[in-house]
Amino acid sequence: MKYSSTRGGERDKSSIDAILQGIASDKGLFVPEKIPELPFDMSDMVNKPYKEIAFQIIGAFFPDLGKESLHYCVDNAYDEKFEKEEIVPVRKVGEVNFLELYHGKTAAFKDMALSILPYFFRVCMQKKKEDKKICILTATSGDTGKAALEGFADVAGTEIIVFYPNAGVSEVQERQMVTQKGKNTHVFAIEGNFDDAQTGVKKIFNDPAFAKKALDKGVKLSSANSINIGRLVPQVAYYVYGYLSLVADGQLEIGQQMNVVVPTGNFGNILAAYYAKKMGTPIDKLICASNENKVLTDFFKSGRYDIDRPFHLTNSPSMDILISSNLERLLYDILDGNSEKLVNLMKDLENNKSYRLDEQARTKLKDFAAGFATVAETNETIGKIYEEYGYLVDTHTAVAYKVYRDFLEETGNNRPTLIASTASPYKFAESVSQSIGLAKSNSGFESILDLHKKTNLPIPNGLKDLDKAEILHGSKIKISEMPETVLNSL
Ligand SMILES: *Cc1c(COP(=O)(O)O)cnc(C)c1O
Repeated sequence: MKYSSTRGGERDKSSIDAILQGIASDKGLFVPEKIPELPFDMSDMVNKPYKEIAFQIIGAFFPDLGKESLHYCVDNAYDEKFEKEEIVPVRKVGEVNFLELYHGKTAAFKDMALSILPYFFRVCMQKKKEDKKICILTATSGDTGKAALEGFADVAGTEIIVFYPNAGVSEVQERQMVTQKGKNTHVFAIEGNFDDAQTGVKKIFNDPAFAKKALDKGVKLSSANSINIGRLVPQVAYYVYGYLSLVADGQLEIGQQMNVVVPTGNFGNILAAYYAKKMGTPIDKLICASNENKVLTDFFKSGRYDIDRPFHLTNSPSMDILISSNLERLLYDILDGNSEKLVNLMKDLENNKSYRLDEQARTKLKDFAAGFATVAETNETIGKIYEEYGYLVDTHTAVAYKVYRDFLEETGNNRPTLIASTASPYKFAESVSQSIGLAKSNSGFESILDLHKKTNLPIPNGLKDLDKAEILHGSKIKISEMPETVLNSL
C-alpha cells in the first residue's frame, strides 16, 4: 500500500514515511493510492472484540508495519485505559444507536486514535532507525490537544507541542491541557481561533528554512492532527465495529445498510466513516452535522465552500472550525485523484476564500446529507433526550442528534442509525447541566459535581479532581510568535 499527496507533489511513499512525515511537502495530505477492501467476511466478525477489528482494519491500510508490531500497537492502545471493557459501547436509545467513543483517558473520541498514534511512531521510528527526535506539533480546538499530550507524554524520542485558541475552549478542556505532566510536553494558548492555530502550524510545516533550523537541533517535525493519516485510519475501525454491533443486536442483517451521523469540525471523523463505506461497510447516508459554523452544511447543499463569513464561538467548541482540513481528502477522491483540479480549488480558497465544485464532482457527493443546529437547539436537544430516555449526551453529540431528527423528517429514510457520540457529557458539564434544568454554577468543575449528583453517571477518571491539579503550562502567545515558540521549546 503506497501513499501519495493529494496535491500530486509526492508519490509512492510507504505508510511508515507518511505517518512519520505527517503532512506532505507540497502542503497536501497523504492518501492511500487505493482504499483497501474489507480484509474479512463480515459474517465471520460478528461479536469479535474491538481489538480484533482494529487490528484487521489498520493492517489493511498499513501492511508495512508488520503483524507483530501492529499487535503490539493495538494491544497497548486499547487496554484498561478505556473505562469500558468493550472499548466502544453501542447504546440503543429510542430509535437510534449511540457509538460511545469517549471512554478513553481524556473523555473524547480523539483518544480512539491518539492512544495508538504514539505506538505507530515508536514502531515507525524503530523500523526506519530514526536517530532524530520527532517533535509533534498540534493545533487543537480543545480535545485533540489533551489526547495527544496524554498519548505522547514521556514517549522516548518525541517532544509534543500543543497550541489552543485562547478563549476558544471550555474551562474543563483548558484545565486538562495546562495540568499535563511529562518532561516532553509543551502547551500554549494563542491569541486567535482554531483556524488561526491550524494555519499557523501548517505554515511551520511548510517552511523549509524552519525545518532546517529544527534539524540543526536534531529534530524533525510531525503532526498529531487528523491531517496525519496515522490519526485517521484507526478511526475507520469503529464504524466497521459499529456496523457489526448492530448486526449482533439483530437490527441489521449482513449486507443491509445503516446510516451514520457525525458531528463534524475538521472533517476527520466523518471522512473515516466515508473510508469505511468505501471499504465495503454497508452504509447508506453519511450525515454531516455542524453547529452555527455551518460551512459544511452549505457546501453539501450548494457545492460551494465559502469561509468568508463570521466565526461563531458556540457551546460545541470542538466544531468551531471554518477550514476543514480533511475535506481535501474527500475532494481528491471525488475528483478521481486529479491533483491539478484539486490544487486549483485550494488556490481559490486561499485567494478568494471560496471555491465551487463542478457538476460532475457534485454528483459524487450524493452519499452525504448535511445539516446544522444552533446553540439553543443543541441545549434543547440535550434536555429532550434526557427527559425522554434518561440518557445524557454532550453538546457535540446533541448537534448530531438534532441534525438526524431533521434528516429523518425530511427524507423518511429510517434505516438503523449510528450516531458518533464524541465526548462525555462531563466534558461540557456547564452547558449540559443547564440543559437538563440545573442552575448555573460558578465553574465547569462545579457543574461536573452538580451533574453527578443529579444523574449518578460515573465521572470519567480523567475529569475527577481536575480543579485541584497543579497548573504547569499556559503561556499566552501571539500567532506570529508560534515559530520561535517551537524553536525555544526544543
Ligand atoms: C474533534 C471533535 C469533533 C469534530 O471531529 P472532526 O474529526 O474534527 O470532524 C466533534 N466532537 C468532539 C467532541 C471533538 O472533540
